[in-house]
Amino acid sequence: MAFSSSNIRSDFPILNVTTDDHPIVYLDNAATTQKPLPVLQSIQDYYLYSNANVHRGAHFLSDRATSAFESARNTVAAFLHAPENSHVIWTKGTTESINMVAYGLEHLIEVDDEILITSLEHHANLVPWQQLAFRTGARLRVLPLTSTGEWEAEYANYFTDKTKIFASTHISNAIGASTPLANMLNEAKKVGAYTLVDGAQAVAHYEVDVTALDCDFYVFSGHKMYAPTGIGVLYGKSSALETLLPYQTGGEMVRHVAYQATEFNVLPYRLEAGTPHIEGAIGLAAACDYLTKQDRPELLKWEQMLAKTVYDELCLDPRIEIYSPSSNTTLVSLSVPNVHTLDLNSYLDSKGIGVRAGSHCAHPLMEQLGVGSTLRASFACYNTKQEAKRFCEVLLEAIDLLA
Ligand code: PLP
Repeated sequence: MAFSSSNIRSDFPILNVTTDDHPIVYLDNAATTQKPLPVLQSIQDYYLYSNANVHRGAHFLSDRATSAFESARNTVAAFLHAPENSHVIWTKGTTESINMVAYGLEHLIEVDDEILITSLEHHANLVPWQQLAFRTGARLRVLPLTSTGEWEAEYANYFTDKTKIFASTHISNAIGASTPLANMLNEAKKVGAYTLVDGAQAVAHYEVDVTALDCDFYVFSGHKMYAPTGIGVLYGKSSALETLLPYQTGGEMVRHVAYQATEFNVLPYRLEAGTPHIEGAIGLAAACDYLTKQDRPELLKWEQMLAKTVYDELCLDPRIEIYSPSSNTTLVSLSVPNVHTLDLNSYLDSKGIGVRAGSHCAHPLMEQLGVGSTLRASFACYNTKQEAKRFCEVLLEAIDLLA
């Protein structure tokens, strides 16, 4: 189907909300996206016609719920180009997925091993590795990417025979830069490290092909790609998933339990303890279907055009510092020296414009940029050029008032 932002907007009734007579302009999509009607409908339909616990009951509704739930797994596997549905593990989101890997690989990590991350990470892809290093005596190292995600030849030296895990974001949530994944994954493979890619900011915009990327793990949250909160994915190659010790244990993930020992279930169930977020998985599959039906390259071009519109307009103003790349990004992160980003945020909010001011869960990156916080406008498929221009106009008004 040809992409059109105006057609798409009618799928998101929340965009018609007004505040103090201003139509809302929602530019906080990197934090979470709005949900389209087909996603909302899939959740309602589940509760109206199929609700029961999965995998357990031998009755009509339980069969229906199980089949909807497992078919959601197939949809997500196809969306990621994963070879098999058993490579998709349901989690609460990116944070839980990364913790599952950090705890699940702990039995392989020894004193003086190295865990390598990049300098563009969200805390979710930093703190679990740091804590793993504390628990095991391993060393956390940081690949010093530039704020535009540049790959320098000497970075290859960071990958050594001590590197046991390499974890990188696909796209920075704080500044929108893409990381040089192909180069980095290539180096990580040469030294035999496990590789994890944090795709939280990528899946809504890019067609992700985990088989082509050839990483061991790829993780993301549903709520940043038009699906509900509380559902996410840990994709893993089967050899990598088999290596993980279960992070949580209990029902569902077992084959047989005796007081003396437990026989765990096969993948993917072995890593999914307890009753899963059934309607979340169904909603996530509906979001995958929703995105798959769009012309995704056109959708990405549209979102990048919106960010570029903002970049081109604001880079002309010497009072503004922009931290995002000038193109090929879907968000713009900026600050205005001597004006607090929270004040800019409040002014924008008073005109109905929702953005994000803060450190974006990336304290070390903010330090690298020499700034306490930034103001971030992030775009989704339903945003319009008028909204991008309105953001610039109101931001400049705020600066005139506050600077
Ligand atoms: N990684 C990145 C790049 C993110 O942008 C976020 C959320 O902003 C996360 C991880 C954490 O995601 P969640 O809070 O959904 O687990």
